[in-house]
Amino acid sequence: MKIILLGAPGSGKGTLAKKITRDFGFPQISTGDLFRAIVKEDSALAREVKSIMESGALVPDELTIEIVKNRISQKDCENGFILDGFPRTVNQAKALEKITDIDSAILVDLDFETIIDRLSSRLTCPACGEIYNSHNYDSEICQKCSATLIQRDDDKPETIKNRLEVYEKNTSPLINFYSDRLFKVSSANSAEETYRSVKTFLEKFGE
Ligand code: AMP
Repeated sequence: MKIILLGAPGSGKGTLAKKITRDFGFPQISTGDLFRAIVKEDSALAREVKSIMESGALVPDELTIEIVKNRISQKDCENGFILDGFPRTVNQAKALEKITDIDSAILVDLDFETIIDRLSSRLTCPACGEIYNSHNYDSEICQKCSATLIQRDDDKPETIKNRLEVYEKNTSPLINFYSDRLFKVSSANSAEETYRSVKTFLEKFGE
């Protein structure tokens, strides 16, 4: 099954994707993670992507589409995948339509006030990508791989505001674009609760 996760940054797409991967086996393809890996390299491209990400803006469509196209052509994506953070513009969505058929778009819905609170207290594991929240996790060490947790540069207040504006302007029109395949879930409650509705939906879809 080929799934897209839509929703503002901080709405819980990454956490949801990990749970879907755990139970259904489809790989999670996070363009944010792919770009964070590029940024670690020592190249002109890495420096360019780094400065874009730090401002909260979007990486140009052409590069983003190319990276996703390459990634989903790999063997582990043969039976399906979960796109987390892509597409983020109508242009990207149109390009994706030409590459493959998407079965379903899951919209992870959360109000901006809660998002700002969650992002500013979010802790990320730089090694395995696991996500924690400092409100309910009282340690700096990742439970899964023991790396030291960090606050992402783009989870700082000024950048959060910009990322939400970019979402509103560029990405929210995708809700309409995928209206024929949209499943909406609120992530206002626990991550497990959000996942329960999605799991039921996916199991029915697969019947
Ligand atoms: P994320 O981890 O999904 O919040 O992404 C972090 C940053 O990576 C974004 O703020 C963008 O700068 C960049 N990025 C991730 N996905 C995309 C995309 N589909 N198109 C353009 N830029 C992206």
